[in-house]
Amino acid sequence: ATPISIMVGVGRGAQEGVLIKDAEVLETLEKIDTIVVDKTGTLTQGRPKLTECIAVDSDTEDELLRMAGSLEQQSEHPLARAIVEGAQARNLALPAPHDFDSITGGGVRGSIDGTKVLIGNRPLLEDNGVNNVSALNERAVGLQQQGRTVMFVAVDGVFVGLIAVSDPLKDSTPEAVKALHGLGLRIIMLTGDNEHTARTVAEQLGIDEFEAGVSPEDKHERIKALKAGGRKVAMAGDGINDAPALAAADVGVAMGTGTDIAIESSGVTLVKGDLRGIVKAVTLSRHTMRNIR
Ligand code: ADP
Ligand code: MG
Repeated sequence: ATPISIMVGVGRGAQEGVLIKDAEVLETLEKIDTIVVDKTGTLTQGRPKLTECIAVDSDTEDELLRMAGSLEQQSEHPLARAIVEGAQARNLALPAPHDFDSITGGGVRGSIDGTKVLIGNRPLLEDNGVNNVSALNERAVGLQQQGRTVMFVAVDGVFVGLIAVSDPLKDSTPEAVKALHGLGLRIIMLTGDNEHTARTVAEQLGIDEFEAGVSPEDKHERIKALKAGGRKVAMAGDGINDAPALAAADVGVAMGTGTDIAIESSGVTLVKGDLRGIVKAVTLSRHTMRNIR
């Protein structure tokens, strides 16, 4: 039978927006020593907004944004929504693309009015033989160092420009990170985003361990490796991409604001997506388990 104090603990969590799936999860939380966090939608608000559109030929910016916006209408990625909304805000008419295809962790491709368009991170364009991707390199790195996510656009195999979006931190994130460190936990940030952007966000928060350019499978592998090394790992994430890693962790922590699959894969759900909920969950577990002994 479940000790009454565990049921009380689970109930107390629920009152504060921290949904703990069962007694076992509450027990495991006491032993957690490492928190792995996804960046986008977990540390950040996850609702990126278009901030820059820079064309190689500076008078073609609207055309660049029109192409990108057209293609991204078919993508469900938060980055895609930012581009579509940015294009609509400039009153650009967005035709439907053909032959749309999305490359997980990389970007999207398709054709618009018979032209082939490819949008995504730098490795995606390079892997597809686009060879002048560094034409705007200083601008790109400068934006990434401000914490922006930069996407590169090629038309018919030629690099034509970049699009940057900003995804601010949740107001509660800095305090949550401090409190997690205060509990003696090690924090590791994993992101599909690039190195410069990841470093800027990690430095803002005082997180000293991060990995950039991480694919969903890599996130999952990383969790397994940490566990194999003897760590007790909680993983916090929000996306479809995070689900395998959430399920592999000793305790998965989903943002209630995230996808259903992330929530289903997790032992804890933070109703409002506020990471201070992990602090509450761990503290609650430590108190509850101490009372039982
Ligand atoms: P994240 O961890 O940021 O959610 P993803 O693995 O989903 O990362 O994506 C990694 C990178 O791939 C993004 O930072 C972006 O550069 C690129 N990308 C993914 N989806 C798209 C898209 N729909 N349009 C443009 N770029 C994309
Ligand atoms: Mg995410």
